[in-house]
Amino acid sequence: MPTPVQNAMSSSLVDQYLQRIRPRLDKVQERIRSAAERAGRSAKEVTLVAVSKGHPAEAVIAAYRLGVRDFGENRVEEAGPKMGRVSELLTFPPDDAPRWHLIGHLQSRKAAQAIGPYVLIHSVDRLKIARRLERFAAEVGRVQPILLEINVSGEASKFGFRPEEVEQAVNEIVVMPHLRIQGLMTMAPLVEDPEETRPVFARLRALRDRLVTLYPTVDWCHLSMGMSNDFEIAIEEGATLVRIGTAIFGPREE
Ligand SMILES: *Cc1c(COP(=O)(O)O)cnc(C)c1O
Repeated sequence: MPTPVQNAMSSSLVDQYLQRIRPRLDKVQERIRSAAERAGRSAKEVTLVAVSKGHPAEAVIAAYRLGVRDFGENRVEEAGPKMGRVSELLTFPPDDAPRWHLIGHLQSRKAAQAIGPYVLIHSVDRLKIARRLERFAAEVGRVQPILLEINVSGEASKFGFRPEEVEQAVNEIVVMPHLRIQGLMTMAPLVEDPEETRPVFARLRALRDRLVTLYPTVDWCHLSMGMSNDFEIAIEEGATLVRIGTAIFGPREE
């Protein structure tokens, strides 16, 4: 697969990332397979979203060359230029482009920037942002796939709908013609022992199961849950999208 990189400096940075990422990625993929197997699931049901925030375009290019296709970014203002640079530096067939996911909290005034580049917005966390996204998607005649972010643990520091609010939110969002709900997303609390996150993931799945019966015409196909610390538990509890940054790219400079 020809993926020439256009300038020498970039090319050596891509090489550095290739060396750094290769063994880490192998290990992560092996752990995804084992977790899926333990849960009696196929690893094919789990998509790895490599979270490239805090790393340059060259890191994305290296991961692409190692077979990763899905990339997660949490801020539109960082992602925009990076996506541009990736498409300048990386040659890929049109049907095998990198797929970008928006996973971070989106400010209302930046909603317009979120419509267009992302295959999936994981972080629709309040009605106001849903209404905005609907308006901008309508303006450009697109239908934007989204997930609803749920604050399962109820931590004040976290974004997302409270589980008891979500039905009312779905009632409103489900009739927006330019948004398409595809499931739920959550972030588990940071804990010492990842096993402690299991109830959070199990509750997200139970909530999804309830929504499936209440809204059978919505395609509730995705559960976006699990990060570097806890993705194996999330897979055991039904994750279809795991968002993994540090375990692949190494620590971020933030
Ligand atoms: C940064 C981030 C991740 C990835 O975190 P790691 O611990 O580096 O794997 C996943 N999801 C969201 C929403 C993030 O902001």
